[in-house]
Amino acid sequence: MTVFCILYCCLLAQADGGWELSGKTGGSEARLDALVRELSTSRKLALEKTRTRLELAPGKLSIRWVVQLRRSGEGLAAVKAEAGWTEVGKTEVVVTIPAWRYLAFPAKVRRVVVHEAVHAVMASRMGTAEAYRAVPAWFREGTALLVSGEGPERVNDRISATLLKGGSSADFLAGVTGRQVYPAEGYLSVLWIEQRLGTSGFRELLSRLAEGGVFKTELEKLTGLRLAGLEKAMLQGSVGRISRRISSPSERLFKDALRQAQEGHYERSRESLGALGGIGESLAVRESAIFLHARTLVEEERYSEAAGQLESLLRKGYEVPWEPEIFEQLGRCRAGMGKPREAVLIWKMVAERFPHDSAVQRRITTLLDKLK
Ligand SMILES: [Zn+2]
Repeated sequence: MTVFCILYCCLLAQADGGWELSGKTGGSEARLDALVRELSTSRKLALEKTRTRLELAPGKLSIRWVVQLRRSGEGLAAVKAEAGWTEVGKTEVVVTIPAWRYLAFPAKVRRVVVHEAVHAVMASRMGTAEAYRAVPAWFREGTALLVSGEGPERVNDRISATLLKGGSSADFLAGVTGRQVYPAEGYLSVLWIEQRLGTSGFRELLSRLAEGGVFKTELEKLTGLRLAGLEKAMLQGSVGRISRRISSPSERLFKDALRQAQEGHYERSRESLGALGGIGESLAVRESAIFLHARTLVEEERYSEAAGQLESLLRKGYEVPWEPEIFEQLGRCRAGMGKPREAVLIWKMVAERFPHDSAVQRRITTLLDKLK
């Protein structure tokens, strides 16, 4: 640990009393300062949100908040893919935020901190890793998505991904006792539970779990349903919520557009996407449709039109799904518009933020090589 780092940790401790720095610094520190300021605000907001929304405050286990910097020489395989993570140990809960992902856009860390704070506070209240893991992952994840506000996008994202694979919008639902429960399904199921129990009933469930109650028993008691019936009802509820996000005709139009783009019929693909936009509902695949539309424009070298659409997909306060791809394509637009230096900056930023994503890293390396 360098003298600078020790000094810096002291400063951090003074500034917040929360976040500690792990790993060596190096390069510009101004971005790290900005990130730590954002993290301090986010942490306070996150604890406040967890308290007001769930009536939960930290309990038996203390929570340690860590900003992780990349260690020099660390292999890419060692880099976690998650936007943030929470580990429950014997004596403490550790929340870790990977600094590299947010140095260029500190505000994008906020929802992630809220999400991890929900996990951390629940674990802290339950008091042991065993008690925490005894609560099913779909419920823990769904609750975190509910409080952080990420839920609706996670559902939209999963619907798009399912359609892109050729399935129907609700195909990803497996039931909460299924082997692979997507976070989106966890969120939809938690929504169902909250609707059934009401806000205070849902808080009561969490409070009983925090006091050592068994998840299945408490859930059955409070809902008045046995698990099998519960699962069936939650599935039905989730199918209903999905159908309100996308209708069958919209689904068909989206699939048509996708097929046409894949066959190189870009103009026809854009016509289908235009019809989809004209439906005017708060469509689950709205953002995927804009992305697909922009991609057809990039393929036809209509870079400035495409750039405008891609930029409209980016959000200030949080990281959107397929953010690496959006920036990757934006870089192609900049290069095509005769701004190679801007393209290089964008691509290097993507490479810094998503080191775990080997496919993105490979494509970015190729793009950078081509510009040389
Ligand atoms: Zn989580």
